[in-house]
Amino acid sequence: MSGFLPYGRQAIDDDDVAAVAAALRADMLTTGPLVEAFERDFAAAAGAAHAVACNSGTAALHLAAMALGMGPGDAAIVPSVTFLATANAMRFCGADVVFADVDPDSGLLTPATLEAAIARAGAKRLKAVFPVHLNGQLCDMPAIETIASRHGLAIVEDACHALGLADVGAARHGGMACFSTHPVKAVATGEGGVVTTPRAELAARMRMLRSHGMVRHPAALANRELAYDGDTPNPWYYEMPEIGWNYRLPDVLCALGISQLRKLGRFFARRQAIAATYDRLLAPLAPALRPIARRAPHGWHLYAVLIDFAALGTTRARFMAALREQGIGTQVHYIPVHHQPYYLDHGGRLDLPGADAYYARCLSIPFYPAMRDEDVARVADALAALVGR
Ligand SMILES: *Cc1c(COP(=O)(O)O)cnc(C)c1O
Repeated sequence: MSGFLPYGRQAIDDDDVAAVAAALRADMLTTGPLVEAFERDFAAAAGAAHAVACNSGTAALHLAAMALGMGPGDAAIVPSVTFLATANAMRFCGADVVFADVDPDSGLLTPATLEAAIARAGAKRLKAVFPVHLNGQLCDMPAIETIASRHGLAIVEDACHALGLADVGAARHGGMACFSTHPVKAVATGEGGVVTTPRAELAARMRMLRSHGMVRHPAALANRELAYDGDTPNPWYYEMPEIGWNYRLPDVLCALGISQLRKLGRFFARRQAIAATYDRLLAPLAPALRPIARRAPHGWHLYAVLIDFAALGTTRARFMAALREQGIGTQVHYIPVHHQPYYLDHGGRLDLPGADAYYARCLSIPFYPAMRDEDVARVADALAALVGR
């Protein structure tokens, strides 16, 4: 038996290490020339017009919510099966979250669950919907866009699982798409995030908000008296028209991101190949264990299966422990956010049966580009033994 197989991990090579070492020897450790270079490369990779780098996927979601002007009294729809951060981004702005249910077999927000959430929102001032491309599968965006535009909702895609899919960052609906470069995502910078958008004014606003809400451009300065020495702008002068954060991604990490993006195509192809092998090896385990319901296109971020633990006479905890004993890591993506104590306090109890049914059965198994074919086979064999095939 070889080493421990986690459910996901980064792939860092010597060229990544060299890129970071070179950045460490440069003049600027934080905002220098590599931020723009990373944003340019990321925009190209994601099919986007503009990319704004920041220091986490969570910050990306918060910047997007702020760019929409979300505030107290506003609300946005977020599917319950997602990471905490998608919902929390609304609360950072003082806005409310309306949780939507998901399809029980794919975990995705659907046109029907979106409509139901809109109906449930009642008198709340709904401003946006945040579809989550869970596991890397794209939500039915054409249908979601039709519903959103009928209700005047902006769209922010949580695309943290979907980098690598053609044009996923284009956000043709005129909103934004948010990405993460956490080590388990498609490319890694340690911590990091990016927002993409077709709209230059949103990108400019997010660049201001990621750095304290500061402006320096003479045309943007309000206080002429303090800003100018006669007709010349004072060289030290900056202004803060509104409050922002320090969400900047350092140059050192941008160097890693640039290096990683060069391999995105290769990573994606390897993930696709591993998925095809899993599909073949796991097919005989149905119906006790089967892959989540598929819809094309798929970004292959996670490989998630649905398991009927009760039918196997076990529990998920025991099933995971048995795999762990064999050096196989698994994870649950995600605990439906509407069950979190914080959101029970802030929105009350909700009945979202699709989210609960997905959560009860889902398990993410090891899936990352550096997995070897024998690793994939070892996972499939262990699952077959546990399922009794
Ligand atoms: C990873 C992730 C986030 C948050 O990204 P961080 O970089 O960890 O802050 C948000 N939403 C989804 C769906 C994610 O997978």
